[in-house]
Amino acid sequence: MQITEIYKSIQGESTHAGLPCVFVRLTGCNLRCTWCDSEYTFSGGRRMTLEAVLGEVERLSPERGLVEITGGEPMLQEQEVVPLMQRLLDAGYTVLLETSGERSLERVPKAVVKIVDVKCPDSGEEDTFHSANLEALQPHDEVKFVLSSRRDYEFARDFVCRHSLAGRVKAMLFSPAFSKDAAGARDASHCLLDPRQLAEWMLADSLAVRLGLQIHKFIWDPAMKSV
Ligand code: SF4
Repeated sequence: MQITEIYKSIQGESTHAGLPCVFVRLTGCNLRCTWCDSEYTFSGGRRMTLEAVLGEVERLSPERGLVEITGGEPMLQEQEVVPLMQRLLDAGYTVLLETSGERSLERVPKAVVKIVDVKCPDSGEEDTFHSANLEALQPHDEVKFVLSSRRDYEFARDFVCRHSLAGRVKAMLFSPAFSKDAAGARDASHCLLDPRQLAEWMLADSLAVRLGLQIHKFIWDPAMKSV
């Protein structure tokens, strides 16, 4: 499979935020979100066999901890990434899959925790979520919305209610988008939507969703890779 990088860091998002995690970042994406911070994954990378990827994950996490399969869009390499996820599960890892949900998730092993990043209008990629994937969601999965405006917030709020996500998944995450040009300063001023504003909207609507901040952007320079 085509791999951009494999590294160990702190998980910055989801209900696993704050935990050490090995990231397997696959090359290639078929979307072009306006605030994407992973454009370096769109091309390049190197070919690695499944065994080579497993070996690198084992070297970085001999304790068999948390592994996230991410990108780019990892499901573009479904033929290779599905067996990889199964082998990681068999070896005792807890496996997360970060995906936009644009590709079918039907073949993802059930024990994998899917973190589905449903694209909102200001991403420029609205309506790319493959609605049949609602049926593939497991009670341990999480659905994430990255927001940069009131319009995005209302889209996410209505999506959560319309599809009764509270009864389908473990968590619904509302996360302010972070400026892709941010460098140096590590504070909320680089969020494209003020977290306080988002919190007030959530409370006003009594939404049972989780406000998420990308904590790795507050720990390291937001422009850094492999963190
Ligand atoms: S889906 Fe992810 S990697 Fe692809 S353009 Fe959007 S944010 Fe970037």
